[in-house]
Amino acid sequence: MLYEIQTYGKDVLRTKTEKILQIDDNLREIVANMFETMYAAEGIGLAAPQVDNSIRLFVIDLAPIDEEEGRRVFVNPKILEFGDTQDEYEEGCLSIPTIKEIVTRPTSIRITYQDMYGKHYDEEIDGFLARVIQHEYDHLEKTLFIDHLSSLKKSLIKKTLKKIASGEIEVEASENFEL
Ligand SMILES: [Zn+2]
Repeated sequence: MLYEIQTYGKDVLRTKTEKILQIDDNLREIVANMFETMYAAEGIGLAAPQVDNSIRLFVIDLAPIDEEEGRRVFVNPKILEFGDTQDEYEEGCLSIPTIKEIVTRPTSIRITYQDMYGKHYDEEIDGFLARVIQHEYDHLEKTLFIDHLSSLKKSLIKKTLKKIASGEIEVEASENFEL
């Protein structure tokens, strides 16, 4: 089942997310639907608030850009540490169509999370996956990638954001590997 992707301006993107207490078939169905929704939009990452669900869950599949990577599910993730080095990358977001901006982020993280069967993990992750995780994790923290921009950059995209919020610009599948 495809979910509707919530775009900039929707309250759910700025709503506190709840810890997932029941890791069951219902959750696994949500995960399956989120992957389906993400693939349909040609995204590589999708967080639950983007599909109108305020729970601590996101999914990632970097296979389109990294053959070694496949589906990953993060339930109740917690980033414990950020590495010292940072890099820049032009990010996009399925919830903020047409806007792409350079965002500076740490290149490595240490994260704990559960999978969709409740198993616990504690991992150090670096490279592009670390960036995508931070972008999706931000969604669980009510943060959007545009929040990381300078006030000058923010003022330059203000008009486009208004158009997204008013529904003039809608989500379209693109091949830009958005998050
Ligand atoms: Zn996003």
